Amino acid sequence: MTKYEMVVGLEVHCQLATRTKLFCGCGTDGYGETPNSRICPVCTAQPGSLPVLNAKAVELAFRAALALECRLNPVSVFARKNYFYPDLPKAYQISQYDKPFSEHGRLRLSEGGKTVGITRIHLEEDAGKLLHDLGALKIDGSLVDLNRAGVPLIEIVSEPDIRTGDEAHAYLAALKEVLQYVGASRCDMEKGEMRCDANVSVRPEGAQRFGTRAEIKNLNSFKNVKDAIDHEFHRQVAVVESGGRVVQETRLWDAAKGETRSMRSKEDAHDYRYFPDPDLPPLVADESLVARLKAEMPELPAARRARLTAQLGLTAYDAEVLTGDRALADFFETAAAAAPKGAAKTVANLLSTEMLARLNAESLPPSQAPIAPEHLGRLAGLVVAGTLSSKGAKDVFARMWQTRKDPVELVSELGLAQVSDDGALREWVRQAVASNPKAAADLKGGKDAAIGSLVGAVMKLSGGKANPAAVRGLIKEAVQS
Ligand code: ADP
Ligand code: MG
Ligand code: ZN
Repeated sequence: MTKYEMVVGLEVHCQLATRTKLFCGCGTDGYGETPNSRICPVCTAQPGSLPVLNAKAVELAFRAALALECRLNPVSVFARKNYFYPDLPKAYQISQYDKPFSEHGRLRLSEGGKTVGITRIHLEEDAGKLLHDLGALKIDGSLVDLNRAGVPLIEIVSEPDIRTGDEAHAYLAALKEVLQYVGASRCDMEKGEMRCDANVSVRPEGAQRFGTRAEIKNLNSFKNVKDAIDHEFHRQVAVVESGGRVVQETRLWDAAKGETRSMRSKEDAHDYRYFPDPDLPPLVADESLVARLKAEMPELPAARRARLTAQLGLTAYDAEVLTGDRALADFFETAAAAAPKGAAKTVANLLSTEMLARLNAESLPPSQAPIAPEHLGRLAGLVVAGTLSSKGAKDVFARMWQTRKDPVELVSELGLAQVSDDGALREWVRQAVASNPKAAADLKGGKDAAIGSLVGAVMKLSGGKANPAAVRGLIKEAVQS
């Protein structure tokens, strides 16, 4: 039986995080706002209006390209992509065609993982949106909302290097992380700020030539991308196995039915009558701008993960959780720097349990956490020194969240300091042994597990403040004597 391999290339559109549109001063914040409240003569194509390129959009697009190890072309050209659709008032989209601003990049999927080539990245404007109802009111025909028309996008085209649905998912996750890190895009998929088309073909394993591809549209979540690709692979294999041929076409993913269906035969580039936009001069990659952007490039997530595991001894998992978000990683590093040497692991634990849980519960970004990273570092110090039990650390953390106070102050205020004082501990141990004679006898007779109930009894007597490690030693001593 022939085995088949899937071949996938992704085209991802990301909205650049600018305040204003690509060629006019209208705001990019029109999502969910009153339709057509972010429009002007330029983005509604009034006769005589002219586009003026947004410098910030260029800067963000260049940052994305540098982060994806792309070459920046010294000169690129804006082209008109002509097609007719009611959401496109000019009847052409300003995009880039044969001279995009950047090419030949790559993206590493995860530590030690595979690399996917980036063919090109180009700048283009978004189109408007058609509405088919107004709340409950059905409309005969369509309404158009142009709030999105002219919003700046980059389209990132990958090489056909992806071989599984999981790889496609990992590629998108890595892409989103990098673009957010450099501030190029927020990549909020729910707001349509990151959209993906998947090109899928199959070939017999070991074959050199690619098969004919289908392009799948309407993939609005990472899960949909993976599911659609996996489904399309099986569909194409079935076509080939039954002696048929895959046709080049555009297909639509129906998430509810879990299948792709044919939408139209695929258009070719010549259908769009591309030509250079005479209203816009070529885009020159200014050398001093490029030099500044390179100098400002932050450490990227993969490099940061490698450094944190090597320097601070974090596990790969902790490093992954902490570096996924740049602000969270910054918070962690400041906290770890304020903690004593060797406490980084404890800082990581407090962050990934207590702090992430609270941030999630209150839907806060890490930058708005009501505690100072230095205080979290000091809290970890108290745990490592044995002053606080892990239960005590939880309680202090809760109070830090409410009061913004220094943990050292809170520990004395709440009387939470762990008791390691010999006299007090010995008295609790004596009482615990006296009231649990069976457990004491079992432990003496060699049943090590019996110590659990004795430690529990001491913790209860001490109101949770006894240092458990010290207690264990004293219990063993007590039952032997
Ligand atoms: P278009 O603009 O018409 O969609 P491109 O040549 O720009 O065409 O290719 C778009 C995407 O299709 C790229 O991500 C590329 O990697 C992918 N691709 C090209 N050929 C194949 C193929 N045979 N199988 C799967 N993906 C492919
Ligand atoms: Mg395409
Ligand atoms: Zn406008």
